Amino acid sequence: EKLPVDPVYTNKPRQVLEASISFVQPEKFENAELIHVSMELASELGFTEDDTATERFKDALTGQWTPGSHQAFAMNYGGFQFGQWAGQLGDGRAINIGEVAAKKNVQQLQLKGAGPTPYSRRGDGFAVLRSSIREHLCSEAMHYLGIPTTRSLSLALSGDEVMRDMFYDHHPALEKGAIVCRIAPSFLRFGNFQLPASRGEEGHLKKLLDFTIKHHFKNLDFNSSDRYIQFFKQVTDSTLEMIIHWQRVGFVHGVMNTDNMSILGLTIDYGPYGWLEDYNPNWTPNTTDNQHKRYRYGAQPEIALWNLWQLANAIYPLIGESERLEAVLNEYKKNYQEQHLQMMRSKLGLIKHQPEDLNLITQLLELLPKHETDMTIFFRELSGVNKESKITEAFEGVHLAFYNLNELQPAVKQEWNNWLSLYVKRLNEESASAAARLSLMQRTNPKYVLRNYMAQLAIDKADQGDYSLISEFYEMLKNPYDDQPKYNQWYKKRPDWARDKPGSSQLSCSS
Ligand code: AMP
Ligand code: MG
Ligand code: MG
Repeated sequence: EKLPVDPVYTNKPRQVLEASISFVQPEKFENAELIHVSMELASELGFTEDDTATERFKDALTGQWTPGSHQAFAMNYGGFQFGQWAGQLGDGRAINIGEVAAKKNVQQLQLKGAGPTPYSRRGDGFAVLRSSIREHLCSEAMHYLGIPTTRSLSLALSGDEVMRDMFYDHHPALEKGAIVCRIAPSFLRFGNFQLPASRGEEGHLKKLLDFTIKHHFKNLDFNSSDRYIQFFKQVTDSTLEMIIHWQRVGFVHGVMNTDNMSILGLTIDYGPYGWLEDYNPNWTPNTTDNQHKRYRYGAQPEIALWNLWQLANAIYPLIGESERLEAVLNEYKKNYQEQHLQMMRSKLGLIKHQPEDLNLITQLLELLPKHETDMTIFFRELSGVNKESKITEAFEGVHLAFYNLNELQPAVKQEWNNWLSLYVKRLNEESASAAARLSLMQRTNPKYVLRNYMAQLAIDKADQGDYSLISEFYEMLKNPYDDQPKYNQWYKKRPDWARDKPGSSQLSCSS
């Protein structure tokens, strides 16, 4: 069973009809240079440390060498961008260069920033160092947080320069070009199915969906006439699982267009993403979304559902009845409520299920934004509050998390005391040991995340040719749930200088 292939080899932008992929070769970069390799991932893919030091390895990961047995290709997809159907988009700067049989399953290798494709439209097909560092570090950090994600094997300088208008202020400048090698079992997105559906290419859609089920949904019974519904159910469940993880750690994707939604429920396309520092459900990292804040933290669960609705619309012609698709979508809402509650219980270290938990959690989530409170530090420090804590002690326990503590309004302080006393009372209903609670909280609430300003510090250094912070963050973020005293300086609230600094807080889509 082969994918429909676009037979014309050209890099000119055009509508690619009745085809899922187009063959394309990466650009020649004579002076490309690897600057960081995820060694654990390399090893999972079957490369030894010696392999990663070879010229061939570098050449492969910068598009200079492709295995003769494999024709490199870019994928064809459409998408709803900020709620509007945008037509054909496709991989404008991503090229699948091959696949490897890894320990667990077959993994695709995809270069991002290795040159133009038939889908580049007005783009140049390249990527800049700053956004590539952000993608490389964050995808690995997400993996080690236990969150489904595409991974990043390597970060390379392309050796060329790329023109970008970083702040969209009509002052374009040359920046260093870079190439990331992304890894995933499949890079298929919701948009890959939406595009043929939007064109009435029903045969193409069916072929693509059957291919996807056969290769990537092996637990489904391919011969069942029910397979499309089962497929949709599985996509819905894995998407929800991913979203619950994002909400747990305070990750904000920033551009949840349907072309950035993986069919496998992986976090994909690290653009202007960000991490909540102070807990603010209205925050978006994306400066181009400041007016509507469509992709703000608090909206991610409903946006994922909206996106799933669009996927349901796309595959509907192959199913012919809407009731069961709608039933799956309605289940998402119910499952979200349940899974969110359960996730929050874990964040609070609550093992029993008590009827008052929902109220306790709702109160907390309403209280947190009333005074700037660091999300990561708050939940991490909360494990220090225990059954015996007096209210003043409980407050002392979490006060590290408050920004500008001296400006805390007495009324809000009172609300905190009230909430903490409810919490301590609730802890006394638990029968599990303090150690069990601590362990649950510490594996739910990460201590180290890639704060926006930290990624920017790594970028600023790398621009000067110093890659030490990239390595330091990579090492630290491999164990985000462990206390690592040598990284104490990264378990701190965002410094004041980084509050509204471009790059250190919000970002544009320029990449
Ligand atoms: P994104 O906002 O990153 O999801 O990208 C949206 C679309 O724009 C995708 O089809 C990308 O492949 C394409 N794109 C983004 N940047 C470039 C670029 N520099 N060159 C070509 N295509 C690009
Ligand atoms: Mg994208
Ligand atoms: Mg992108």
